[in-house]
Amino acid sequence: MTAPSADTARHPLLDESGLPYGLPDFASITDADLEPAIRAAIDDHAAEVAAVVALPEEPTAENTVVALERSGRALHRVLSTFYGLLGPDATPARLEVDRVVSPLLAAHHSAIMSDPALYARVDTVFRALEDGLLDLDDETARLVRRHHRDLLRAGAGLDDEERGRLTAIDTRLAELTTAFGENLLASTTELAVPVTDEAELEGLPESLRAPLAAAATEAGREGWLIPLGLPTVQPISAWLAHAGLRRRVMEASLRRGATPGHDNTPIVLEIVRLRAERAELLGLRCHADHVLAVETAGTPEAARGLLLDVVDAAVTNARNEAKDLLGGEERELDPADWAYLSERLRAERFEVDDARVRPFFELERTLRDGVMHAASELYGLRFVDRPDLSGYLPDVRVVEVFDEQRTERDAGVGLLLLDYYARPTKRGGAWMSSFRDQSRLLDERPVVVNVMNLSRPADGEPTLLTMDEVTTLFHEFGHALHGLLSDVEYPVFSGTSVPRDFVEFPSQVNEMWARRPDMLARYARHVATGEVIDDDLVARMRQAERFGEGQATVEYLGAALLDLAWHSLTRAEAEEVTDIDAFEARVLADAGLDVPGIHPRYRSRYFQHVFAGGYSAAYYSYFWAEVLDADAAEWFDERGGLQRSSGEAMRREVLSRGGAIDFLDAYRALRGSDPSPRALLRRRGLDSAVVGGGAAVAGGRS
Ligand SMILES: [Zn+2]
Repeated sequence: MTAPSADTARHPLLDESGLPYGLPDFASITDADLEPAIRAAIDDHAAEVAAVVALPEEPTAENTVVALERSGRALHRVLSTFYGLLGPDATPARLEVDRVVSPLLAAHHSAIMSDPALYARVDTVFRALEDGLLDLDDETARLVRRHHRDLLRAGAGLDDEERGRLTAIDTRLAELTTAFGENLLASTTELAVPVTDEAELEGLPESLRAPLAAAATEAGREGWLIPLGLPTVQPISAWLAHAGLRRRVMEASLRRGATPGHDNTPIVLEIVRLRAERAELLGLRCHADHVLAVETAGTPEAARGLLLDVVDAAVTNARNEAKDLLGGEERELDPADWAYLSERLRAERFEVDDARVRPFFELERTLRDGVMHAASELYGLRFVDRPDLSGYLPDVRVVEVFDEQRTERDAGVGLLLLDYYARPTKRGGAWMSSFRDQSRLLDERPVVVNVMNLSRPADGEPTLLTMDEVTTLFHEFGHALHGLLSDVEYPVFSGTSVPRDFVEFPSQVNEMWARRPDMLARYARHVATGEVIDDDLVARMRQAERFGEGQATVEYLGAALLDLAWHSLTRAEAEEVTDIDAFEARVLADAGLDVPGIHPRYRSRYFQHVFAGGYSAAYYSYFWAEVLDADAAEWFDERGGLQRSSGEAMRREVLSRGGAIDFLDAYRALRGSDPSPRALLRRRGLDSAVVGGGAAVAGGRS
């Protein structure tokens, strides 16, 4: 139907590839095919939706809502392939395609979501369902409500005038958030801290000086230039022995987004007002209500309550940490000194050295005897390399995943691609994405990929990991399992298509297996001698990780509560706020977070996540997922660790069900109770201060 040439020719992007599990036939895809294929698939999808709208028959769940789920299959296929390639291998040609097709896709999406005739049909089905006139299975009923909700949230239920205003607000918000990001970038660049006297760099290793010298040269300056990163506390300050330079770095960091010509003050205020107006137009009290309605937390009050619950413990610990850092001196810790003093104390107290740790974590062994072993024990999976199948580049490995629960003939779960090494065209960080999503409706099985940015070792040398990298390996594999074990009818609910404050739950839980003693004994073996990592080193690694959690939690809570406070303003309240600094001070004081020496991780004028990224009213979600994950980790522990019965429960209640569940209900079904933040406090070592006093480092797991 979508093939541009003769019926017999298979289009490499628009048609089924014919390979196992629908793995894209990467070898036959060229960059030149991408844009025409995306355009053709957009037209196809628009025609499919138009056909649904034009149906003469009365709307039913099958002919309208399920038909919408079936539509756009070619578009989904080509975009999964395109974005799946863009992240790990962004060639200039692909970046250009992205620039060209992004506005086309936005316009296409918006045309569907604001079509009053489509909304009318979906609304008819929705009303029949709510009136008890339809006999639908659970997942289909959920599908009807989901499509109805998404259309309403996009403004499909508004009259023409209101929809016009909504469009105007969205257009203006797009300009403002872009301007926010540009101002932030420009002022961040302009505030880079110059150093001309090398003595000021005392404490900074040679390997970190060279990039600063290069940055200075690039800016046409003598000496060194310290570029600034996103959070308030600049990581480099942990190394700087020169107190005056630490203060200059901190002052520069705090001025971002507030320099002449690049001032985000009016932009923040206008964004906040427009978001509040937008929410009001959609019949809600505030922007946070709009955002949280589709998250697990449900309401801003629930999210705020969770954060406020841990304020006391975090503040008490942070104050104890400050005393510890000052060695008993009676004075306030300067915010500029915190990172430096912490790093000194950490090095002295725990002596955890990467060079000692890494030989115990060889990639292949960690993967086979660690990550995959845990998944086999818990979920009964088997992982078999498929060298006969090609990934998108020669160093991408293809692994077939089998399930011992299934019959022999149909035992294949899906494919897992592993792409672990850095390359110049790969975006930074680590992630999981999918080339194919599981759904019974479209008879598709998953093809997912785990991507990391490990440095490639010299030829013949093993790849050795830091503990952080090991954790990331387990983390991304947790996302992969969520995609692979999906067992849903409808694509919209597949795998990791869950709320933002839930999507990190399966991945963060999976991190726990990296640190269990029985697991370490199995996979953490010295690459040369085969000896198991010693308990003492493991204990010191744990303590070092936990050290400073009081300060880290306080600065995180500050940012998360600021985000919620801005976006909980009604339209009328938003009009009243004119002084950003006064607003911030009041929010922090009200929460009991005005701790001397600690700024929020982000202040409003440089809070990129919420004023230029997609995290408005949702910065809390990192913490929310961690509360669920810490609590669930205790549940696994209580049940004896790697037990198949625990894995089966996790699979049945959570992993297989994607977005087709009520998340807190699923969690309760698994845990037998509501999630409690106590587990997270224990994990971060923050519980000791509450129950018995003493610094965070002394807090053991009870
Ligand atoms: Zn993640």
